[in-house]
Amino acid sequence: MTKKALINVDYTYDFVADDGALTCGKPGQELEAYISDLTEQFIRNGDEVIFAIDMHVENDPYHPETKLYPPHNIAGTKGRELYGDLNRIYEDYKAKPNVHWLDKTRYSAFVGTNLDVILRERNITEIHIVGVCTDICVLHTAVDAYGKGFDIVIHEKGVASFNQTGHQWALEHFTNCLNAKST
Ligand code: ZN
Repeated sequence: MTKKALINVDYTYDFVADDGALTCGKPGQELEAYISDLTEQFIRNGDEVIFAIDMHVENDPYHPETKLYPPHNIAGTKGRELYGDLNRIYEDYKAKPNVHWLDKTRYSAFVGTNLDVILRERNITEIHIVGVCTDICVLHTAVDAYGKGFDIVIHEKGVASFNQTGHQWALEHFTNCLNAKST
């Protein structure tokens, strides 16, 4: 039987809410029910769920994003909380052994984290990805997963970006170049 994990990428207030610091806006907000339902399904099914959530300190002189974006997902702020119903689901289930919170500081959930170890020790071979932004953190996470030999499933109703062209391009890239299944 295939063992699978769901990676929730950056579905936080700053990336999704109207007044978030680096928001995808409406396209991001429209994912709320889909992501929340899928996450709950995975948890109840006993599959692994990983919340891979961007974490920054303000004006970090060493961080490359400081030059690229306004401050976002600052540790300890509301901006870094999960958005909407996903936050409730996390709070309801966070004590379960198959629910993991991962602080990430780069686009890819694999960079500087123990994600690879979490997946390998549980013999997980298939990674499902939802969250934002399709063409930034979701993309970089998928590229690394591909390079590490995981099978990838992209949930098209569960990813969005503030850049529609980038979003469309990334969806094609997942399928054509990363051999991802899309659902
Ligand atoms: Zn960031």
